[in-house]
Amino acid sequence: MNCEELIRYLSDYIDNNLNEDLRADAEEHLRTCHNCHVVLDTTRKTILMYKGSLKEPIPAPRREALFDRLLKAISDREDCPPEGM
Ligand SMILES: [Zn+2]
Repeated sequence: MNCEELIRYLSDYIDNNLNEDLRADAEEHLRTCHNCHVVLDTTRKTILMYKGSLKEPIPAPRREALFDRLLKAISDREDCPPEGM
């Protein structure tokens, strides 16, 4: 699994909607990729914040916008590799 796939599955990962294989792949990627680990942490907090304030799941379009932003952030990062890589 690469970063882009991880981001695609991230929403389902957070919601525990992935099957065992995908979940294992995602967890393995998260163990080895600091960037995605940070993205997961941020996304989970954002989703929990929404859930906490709205008491209902994030509407799909809003989620898509959120993940679109995250994907863009990841691809921007690739143009400018983080230090130490
Ligand atoms: Zn990654």
